Amino acid sequence: MGAEERIDPWGRPDIKDYGRLYNVFGIRPFDEVLDKLKALGVEPSPFMRRGVIFGHRDLDIALEAWASGRPVAVVTGFMPSGRFHFGHMLTALQLVYYQRLGLRVFVCMADAEAYAVRRASREETIRSALEEFIPNLLALGLDPQKTEFYFQTGREGPYHELIQLFSSKVTSNEMEAIYGDLSPAKVVSALTQVADILHPMLKEYGGYEYVIVPVGADQDPHIRLTRDMATRMRGEINFNPPAATYHKLIRGLDGGKMSKSKPDSTIFLTEPVEEAVRKFRASLTGGRNTAEEQRRLGGEPDKCPVFDQYLYYLVPDDSELASIERSCRSGSLLCGECKLMGSEKLRKFLESHQRLLETYKDKAASLVELPKY
Ligand code: SF4
Repeated sequence: MGAEERIDPWGRPDIKDYGRLYNVFGIRPFDEVLDKLKALGVEPSPFMRRGVIFGHRDLDIALEAWASGRPVAVVTGFMPSGRFHFGHMLTALQLVYYQRLGLRVFVCMADAEAYAVRRASREETIRSALEEFIPNLLALGLDPQKTEFYFQTGREGPYHELIQLFSSKVTSNEMEAIYGDLSPAKVVSALTQVADILHPMLKEYGGYEYVIVPVGADQDPHIRLTRDMATRMRGEINFNPPAATYHKLIRGLDGGKMSKSKPDSTIFLTEPVEEAVRKFRASLTGGRNTAEEQRRLGGEPDKCPVFDQYLYYLVPDDSELASIERSCRSGSLLCGECKLMGSEKLRKFLESHQRLLETYKDKAASLVELPKY
């Protein structure tokens, strides 16, 4: 595979053409499972209906298993470093969705990876997990009774043996074909992620028959490696290849990536509300150069970071979203007015979320075992 056809899962690549991922990597279009979900009695989530989740691997197989009463879990991981932001919220809401369907949720705090790849200290990963990630996940609706939180370095039992086992099943050339040139730290991180995804299928952790992993499109290399590894383990440990769904990454307010390293274009869920509103009002838009031009030509919501915030979070009602899009395209809605409306929605959301956070801020420490070293 040529370098241009690799994705660096640690580099937050800016993927412009999601459709290309169907052909190059074999991700299946999500549309093909929408009707199957309904036939199983599963109401698609707004992200599924709105095309934010654009692809999957074997989601239909995992949900058919779940609908016939077999045990299925959902697994995800967050690298606890810095503050929880709108980029993280997309995965969080998908966990809540699956949990409300009745699936068990595993949330990994990827502290080993944060140390190996980002050189984050033990104190910082624990602080970020306990003060940012876990409380925000709870305030967004994750039920602590039905969620298993863990730190990679604190996980006991056969989880760590899996990492050693996987390291004997793959060659450097195969890793390189998926990821490109990898440092030893990233090789270990990738194999640890394989264990994160597959270990709920071991009887010691629940013996789930399938796992579903909701990920951003940039994480597909880990999914491909894990699916390969599950197949190679047959005969020793019978893992089913994990199912995955793929979402488009939300744009930052400057039109680029939303990331903690670009605080002015990222909305953090714990920041002062007025600061978030200020950033939102300064956002890039898909508007034209002048009001006259916009009235004549209309705006371009598909290029607009403000519209992204509506599409992902701030406008849950589909008909309201469609009406904003129509008004934008027709030129009857101008960006100043639109941002004013959006900033009020953002204010309302953050105020209510931060009130809930107060309830959860001291609970995290009782929900997760801290790493012993
Ligand atoms: S009117 Fe709103 S949605 Fe349309 S381009 Fe302007 S800010 Fe974006």
